[in-house]
Amino acid sequence: MSDAREYQRAPASSSSAPIAVASTTVQPFLDISPDALVIINRAGTIVLVNRQAEAVFGYTREVLLGQPLELLLPQRFHDAHIAHREHYFSSPHTRSMGIGLHLVGLRKDGAEFPVEISLNPLLLDGTLHTLAAIRDMTAQRAAERERLQQLQHIHLQADLINLAHDAILVRDPVGRVLSWNKGAEELYGWTAQEAQGRIIHTLLKTRYPLARSAIEAQVEREGQWEGELVHTCRDGSLVTVESRQALVRDEAGQPSAILEINRDVTRRRRREQTEHAEYAETTARLAFLQQVLDALPSSVYLVYGPEARLLLANREARSVWGAAWPTAQPMLEFLTTNKIALFDLQGRPLPPEHYATLRAVRQGETVLQQQETIRRPGGSSLPVLVNALILSAPQGTGQLVLQGERVALVVHQDVTTLKEAEYLKDEFVSIAAHELRTPLAVLKGFADMLLVQTARGRGPALAKWQSEALEEIELAVTRLVDLTEELLDVTRLQAGRLLLQRTPTNVISLAHRVTTLLQQMTTRHQLEVRATQQALVADIDPGRIEQVLTNLIGNAIKYSPQGGPVTIALWEETATHEIGISVRDRGIGIPQSQHAQIFGRFMRADNAQAWGISGTGLGLYICRELVERHGGQLWFESRENVGSTFFLTLPIIANQESSDVNA
Ligand code: ADP
Repeated sequence: MSDAREYQRAPASSSSAPIAVASTTVQPFLDISPDALVIINRAGTIVLVNRQAEAVFGYTREVLLGQPLELLLPQRFHDAHIAHREHYFSSPHTRSMGIGLHLVGLRKDGAEFPVEISLNPLLLDGTLHTLAAIRDMTAQRAAERERLQQLQHIHLQADLINLAHDAILVRDPVGRVLSWNKGAEELYGWTAQEAQGRIIHTLLKTRYPLARSAIEAQVEREGQWEGELVHTCRDGSLVTVESRQALVRDEAGQPSAILEINRDVTRRRRREQTEHAEYAETTARLAFLQQVLDALPSSVYLVYGPEARLLLANREARSVWGAAWPTAQPMLEFLTTNKIALFDLQGRPLPPEHYATLRAVRQGETVLQQQETIRRPGGSSLPVLVNALILSAPQGTGQLVLQGERVALVVHQDVTTLKEAEYLKDEFVSIAAHELRTPLAVLKGFADMLLVQTARGRGPALAKWQSEALEEIELAVTRLVDLTEELLDVTRLQAGRLLLQRTPTNVISLAHRVTTLLQQMTTRHQLEVRATQQALVADIDPGRIEQVLTNLIGNAIKYSPQGGPVTIALWEETATHEIGISVRDRGIGIPQSQHAQIFGRFMRADNAQAWGISGTGLGLYICRELVERHGGQLWFESRENVGSTFFLTLPIIANQESSDVNA
């Protein structure tokens, strides 16, 4: 029952004279006390206890009597207690023990419990004793602890409320502010002190989405309301809040307060409004763009990403494809789903990597005037010229990207009518060339005959001017024959009527033959064949490849008017199983600006014409077609006034030992 400091600390109460009682009569009085009472003598021995003391400490009276008082307190207090007890007897007075200290009692079962003790000097049978009244404080302490916890809880809640960014306030049923958290101070700019007692809707100039009375009625009726309000802050600025209001009733069920939590959604609302406006504008623009596109006679569509997903297509696009292409669908998926196929100029299936649209979105290429034929779901075919290009973002900020991917604009031009016109023209050229062949052959035959027979002395000798005129006629007719042959080749190629008579052929021998023949026609040029080996065999139409080499070497000679070396090289491209051939001259070259067009029909470079070199512009076109039909490729490198090198490849025959080789 003690703390070491209690004797010094306890304030002395009035030191009235000790009450005198007789041990024989006091017991009944002790027993009616609600507190445990223990009387000790100066030696600290228990001489009397009441029933409560027995109950509190768990000992019977018999056990307690005669025991030292220290029996009733934990061992750790014994020494101090003995000292203080002696001190108390030297100056006895009525007082409470250890105010503000935690006094502890010890039960028989060893359990400790909080106690409150008051001490009274007592003359028992004429001797000074001390009467200790001990109260078990277990229940009170527990209640105190609980109250403390509740208090802490309330503080915590208040802190929590202040921590919230939301404005949290309590108002009475007429709208007077009762409580105003930090969030409210921050949001509205009014301090709690300023706001308290003010009518909330006057203070904040509240704008309601519906009549205030209607809201109040709902709070009253349903106990709550949620909605958006506009408040005016202290600085005059407006804030939009998401408000939740709940009614609190008192014990009698009468409305006592309204709890209001207001969340600032001003920025969110503003953002939503801007987004909404932007969205509306974008939609309007898209609709306008769609109208513009729909008004165009050509098929136009926009795709994005490497899969060429559709962004936008006009009405004509649908009729060109013969099917509607859903937005965001990848191109290949659209084509397969609708059984649409694409073909090249020669009618061969076009590999997807060559589709103009895919070349644009995948490689960022600008594809102009690529000829494709669309075979539509119903089986009908449509020849189109495709232009595909990557769109640039406005203000030249680079490429336009959508979801991080390139956007390409693709335009299809229906060339059915052009094709028909071209077909008619080809037909005309073909017929004309055919019809020219016979009279030209007659002309050439007679011119030859006149020259040869006169030379042999048959008939009268011709005057010099006559034989010169005849030679001119012969030359002109030869040119005309060449032209008609070329024209016929072109029309055959166009119509797909040119058939190759393939046979394994040693291309090196063929090159030698052509070179020897052409060398005989020029003394100013030195023709040289360079080959890494004796034979390179390809499965070709020898007549057609001879035509190609004659044309290329012929051009090398023709376009080197000052003469010079012409080198023909042949080698094996082991990696690609091809024969490589190059024809190099040091002639006038081809201007860089005309490189891209030089394989076109009737295409001649400006410098060739300026030099007065005659030609039709058909040779290279025919050469490339012929080489490609052999499965090879033809290209060139050239610099004006430096020279040109034409390269071609032909697939090699794996078994070069093939016995049946056309040399
Ligand atoms: P052409 O009958 O005009 O020679 P081609 O189709 O053979 O027709 O050649 C097309 C054009 O390419 C020529 O007109 C000429 O401008 C250019 N060209 C072809 N080969 C050469 C070359 N070796 N050097 C310079 N220009 C050439």
